[in-house]
Amino acid sequence: IDRQGEVSYKRVPSNALMGAIQLGIANSLGSLANRPHRDILVQDFEVIEEVAFPTEGTQTTPSHKYEDFRFKTYAPIAFRYFRELFNVKPDDFLKSLCATQLKELSNPGASGSIFYVSNDDKFIIKTVQHKEAEFLRKMLPGYYLNLHQNPRTLLPKFFGLFCYQGRGKNIRLLVMNNLLPCSIKMHDKFDLKGSTYKRFASRSERAKNNPTLKDLDFNEEYPNGIILDAPTFDTILDIIHRDCMVLESFKIMDYSLLLGVHNLDIAEAEQAGSGDEDVDSIGGSSQNPSIAATERALARAEAWKAYQLDFNTRAPYDCSEGGVPAKNAKGERLLLFLGIIDILQSYRLFKKLEHTWKSVLHDGDSISVHNPGFYANRFQTYIREKVICRGSAELIHGKQSGK
Ligand code: ATP
Ligand code: CA
Ligand code: CA
Repeated sequence: IDRQGEVSYKRVPSNALMGAIQLGIANSLGSLANRPHRDILVQDFEVIEEVAFPTEGTQTTPSHKYEDFRFKTYAPIAFRYFRELFNVKPDDFLKSLCATQLKELSNPGASGSIFYVSNDDKFIIKTVQHKEAEFLRKMLPGYYLNLHQNPRTLLPKFFGLFCYQGRGKNIRLLVMNNLLPCSIKMHDKFDLKGSTYKRFASRSERAKNNPTLKDLDFNEEYPNGIILDAPTFDTILDIIHRDCMVLESFKIMDYSLLLGVHNLDIAEAEQAGSGDEDVDSIGGSSQNPSIAATERALARAEAWKAYQLDFNTRAPYDCSEGGVPAKNAKGERLLLFLGIIDILQSYRLFKKLEHTWKSVLHDGDSISVHNPGFYANRFQTYIREKVICRGSAELIHGKQSGK
């Protein structure tokens, strides 16, 4: 992948790409709005629609300041169905993605993908490789099955797949949910696989403002794991188990659990310590910052309790910002934001890339079993034994009994 700094992707300047993407998506959603609703059929997963966007415009496309390009929408009816299931209204989706500038995120991954996030923080657009996009298209019917059977799945929520074609390049764009809202400060952020091989964040990553840490960093920082109340622990493990079965059935490997940790106690101390600095960046400074801060702290504490009470009854497909309440070993209150990410790598591709798959699977003691089942098991065992632990039935009042 031919990427230079953050200004271009495949030699297409990032700003032009962003602008063209927004035109393409707006056009695609607009034309979809006129089409009647109906049940999805299996052919819907295979459809590709393509629209030309010459600079001077056409009857159905606006004139624009970028070079001529074409824009493809994959499986429009199927993704419309997914968006409805996830409770994303067409107007809101359009507004979030197209009405304001997208923000570019720095990507700690090695793949060279670019990530954009919508201004309101709800959606992430990731550039994916040709083989990843093709793989996703093939897996859509299975993804559909999983959504129906496991409505609280932690797999990524896919809202759309598009392709920009211009300057002789194809750039595929996958729209997903943003797991980590920028409006809530993440005191820790981990990308966890259950492997120990090269699973320390690099020095350059650690030097960042908000680094993404890895398994070995997690083990150092949370040697006793993170405590969940018993019902939440059970629910989350069950969801992950079911998700892993789906991933295994598609021979997918190298996915991660993305885990953001918001520490309410630290957040409160931070606010109290710096009256004028608004750590939650909720914006708008009040005349009396300390009162506002206290109110926010109270609101958060209330929310933390409420989350605990309703996690197990939370609406399926809920895309809201609700974190999962938890505690660390010190008893500090946490909100966890978590999901499984990067699920478009299949075992078959790994076999071709010997050095890559060695790094994924090499695990000293268990090198003999190189397959997606092994990956899924190791992933779940790590989460169950090291990442989260089972507290008492009620975290707020009950004594912690995490092992
Ligand atoms: P590689 O293949 O090298 O691991 P990648 O380019 O495929 O990298 P991902 O693994 O998908 O990228 O994601 C890289 C990082 O981007 C994650 O560790 C996380 O910090 C962030 N990220 C990815 N997906 C999301 C998401 N849905 N919400 C919030 N952050 C995300
Ligand atoms: Ca990854
Ligand atoms: Ca990847």
